Amino acid sequence: MPLLKSWIDSANSPETDFPLNNLPLGVFTLGGAPRCGVAIGEHILDATGLEEAGLLQLADTPVLDIPFWNEVMELGPEAWDGLRARLTELLREGSPEQDKVAPFLHPMAGAEMHMPLAVAEFTDFYAGRHHATNVGTMFRGAENALPPNWLHIPIGYNGRASSVVVSGSDIRRPWGQVKAPDEDAPRFAPSARFDLELEMGAIVGQPSDGPVSVDEADQMIFGYVLLNDWSARDIQAWEYQPLGPFQAKATATTISPWIVMRAALEPFRVPTPAREKPLLPHLRDTGPMLYDIALQVDLTPEGGQPVTIARTNYREMYYSSAQQLAHHSTSGCPMNVGDLLGSGTISGPTRDSRGSLLELSWGAREPIALGDQARSFLEDGDTVTLRGAALGDGYRVGFGACTGTLLPALEDPYAR
Ligand code: MN
Repeated sequence: MPLLKSWIDSANSPETDFPLNNLPLGVFTLGGAPRCGVAIGEHILDATGLEEAGLLQLADTPVLDIPFWNEVMELGPEAWDGLRARLTELLREGSPEQDKVAPFLHPMAGAEMHMPLAVAEFTDFYAGRHHATNVGTMFRGAENALPPNWLHIPIGYNGRASSVVVSGSDIRRPWGQVKAPDEDAPRFAPSARFDLELEMGAIVGQPSDGPVSVDEADQMIFGYVLLNDWSARDIQAWEYQPLGPFQAKATATTISPWIVMRAALEPFRVPTPAREKPLLPHLRDTGPMLYDIALQVDLTPEGGQPVTIARTNYREMYYSSAQQLAHHSTSGCPMNVGDLLGSGTISGPTRDSRGSLLELSWGAREPIALGDQARSFLEDGDTVTLRGAALGDGYRVGFGACTGTLLPALEDPYAR
């Protein structure tokens, strides 16, 4: 698909994350109350304002009068397509409605972004093979790197919707119970191995009540965001057996401010990697279920310059979000509008394509260079920025930045 040209010049630049092909959905403020908006070039289109003015009608009653996109998700796939078609009509080059739309455009630079959806529940997976192999090798040795179930199901755990925050939110270094292998007893301390995880988040836009197929699951997905699953490795190492991570993952999870709708990514579909063992029929691929999305992690020390510490691609995943969602429903677990599914850390096959510091520094045995500094895990004041874009011919369908700064731990919260 070529670039769709808009009457907004900045949307036609090959550098922008937000050409007319993209039309991602967010929630913004310009001093007043939060409103639903659509990113286009260097501008935000006030979608709530368009609905109020009668220029955008998605249902019989308003659906953009709450500062979340959940009500649009509830309308279903036909309405999703209708939204994109109407926005395209309003913003395309030569649109006869240009003069009516122009007052609803605001410079993105002056806006503050908020959570684009009300997250119903959050589940995080462990579905990248390079990541699982790296972590397994560090903790269990190369022979037993992948758990025996890994090639048969996308392993996941139920996380906390309450801890999902939008890009730009500060992250406070947590305290927790830790015990190093050479210590006799656990202690309560600030996490000394605080990490990032580069992931994509899939947003469930339609409910289910009972098991769904991979194809049905695919159609239930409304869109995608970038996702940083902040992880306290020392807390995780002590707590994770036998029920999986708990407090290590509960401090915060940051998502990018713009939901890129699934329709915008369709031209970039790619297959999952070759299967080492065939999946059971209900989880088998029925077509290309991943997307070719170039990803990178930038790390900026306090007062310093950003350094790109990893480059990889969403197509490195072993399981697609559709397979994860289908697996999630097999027990009959109801899935709801606004559920967020983390892909699992996305690492590639090479050292510079690893999606966490745990892997990049190989458990602190091989610290990475960061300008004139070195890093094994995050230090106070570090800013982590994830970026991602599907690359078209002369344009990009991007997600905007997913960023967060690590603040120092507070005093011992129980010392009083
Ligand atoms: Mn994770």
